[in-house]
Amino acid sequence: MHKYHSMKIKIFNTLTKKKEIFQPANEDCVNMYVCGPTVYSNPHIGNARAALIPDILFRLLKKRYRKVNYIRNITDVDDKIMDAAKSEKKTVFEISKKYTKIYQQNMSVLGLLEPTFQPKVTDNIPIIIETINKIIDGGFTYIADNHVLFDTEKFPDYGKFSNRTLDEMIDGVRIEIASYKKSPRDFVLWKPSDKEQPGWDSPWGYGRPGWHIECTSMVKKIIGMDNILDIHGGGNDLIFPHHENEIAQGFCATNTKYCNYWFHNGIVLVNKKKMSKSLGNVILINDLIKKISPMTIRLALMSAHYRQPLNWSASTIDESINLIKKFEKIFNDNSSINNSEDECDELVDILSDDLNTPEAMTYLSSVSKKAKANRHDKKAFISSCNFLGFDFKNDNKPVKETLIDEVVIKELINERNLARKNKDFDKADKIRQKLNQMDIEIEDLADRTVWKIK
Ligand SMILES: [Zn+2]
Repeated sequence: MHKYHSMKIKIFNTLTKKKEIFQPANEDCVNMYVCGPTVYSNPHIGNARAALIPDILFRLLKKRYRKVNYIRNITDVDDKIMDAAKSEKKTVFEISKKYTKIYQQNMSVLGLLEPTFQPKVTDNIPIIIETINKIIDGGFTYIADNHVLFDTEKFPDYGKFSNRTLDEMIDGVRIEIASYKKSPRDFVLWKPSDKEQPGWDSPWGYGRPGWHIECTSMVKKIIGMDNILDIHGGGNDLIFPHHENEIAQGFCATNTKYCNYWFHNGIVLVNKKKMSKSLGNVILINDLIKKISPMTIRLALMSAHYRQPLNWSASTIDESINLIKKFEKIFNDNSSINNSEDECDELVDILSDDLNTPEAMTYLSSVSKKAKANRHDKKAFISSCNFLGFDFKNDNKPVKETLIDEVVIKELINERNLARKNKDFDKADKIRQKLNQMDIEIEDLADRTVWKIK
């Protein structure tokens, strides 16, 4: 039988600004929600860190509790996706489908466990409308210019979570100043769509949800309207306004506290600079896994404490490459004891103190040195690697382009087949040439087209 640890997990709670012992509302089922990707472009290392930290916490919670629901949403309707659709000449659905696949594939290559639930906004419009209705019934909204807006004036606790003054809020990021708002900090729950934009019928006309309401609604759909969420996570850039707004919505829809523990991870810097398109220093997972092995990336992302910024530099990569080489060798030298399940108590203790991954790496390094000498340390090392999601059984090499671009290849083949069907042989030829340049060879069979790497 599986042995459950009795250790206490301590986590820094953004709500109380203190490190606290985690106590779930119901020991039989722990609920954790993390804001997932808006699927309009390829994920970068910042996105990977924001998914890896909850992955470690998920593994830890599963050691301690029988049932853990880990929910990570997919924002598949958003203005950014609409912009990407325009520039890639695709539909919003095609864009969101493509980047959802790439995101999930990237995360899986990095050894992340699949969340228990991955709800999409477009599958959850009815619960979003229901949640907005509850907030309206409580008297916390107003309608202006066909928008349903949350009236922050009506919720006295607004701003307490992020601890900001009105001026700081207005100067803050991602606040939209609009003439129809009573106060700049009010935010949209539902907005109108025109015929070309994605939309759904609602009591407030044809339109689409605002960003913040989707998370609150999907949480409630899965855990139940009147239940309190145990843990909510995300990047610390989401504290305001996104999480401040989620708290306001959650409370006003149900008249109960929304979530007990909030955790936030720090930013990833590249050579001490913020990643940005204009600086041209955005590091995409798709590019990175062609150069260094996925497990090296995984280790590098754990090298800093999750609440601190992580600086991505040549030395971060070099140190991780050296360490992972050592780990991999010892792991494979001892592959006969790979099945030793539960010998990672020391590691679990270290991580239970606010997910101290740098300390966990120090421990892993020291136990790897002792592993040659005795069986206990050997078992502890193998078991700890397994717990942390270091998979050395598969070929731990940089990933070939074709493996990762499978989605793109399949799409090109579909496009080519469509062109052939429409007798647009010029276009079909061009697509074949493009695949050729990607080192992909295709063969047309009677009923389908197959491809292989040249
Ligand atoms: Zn969210």
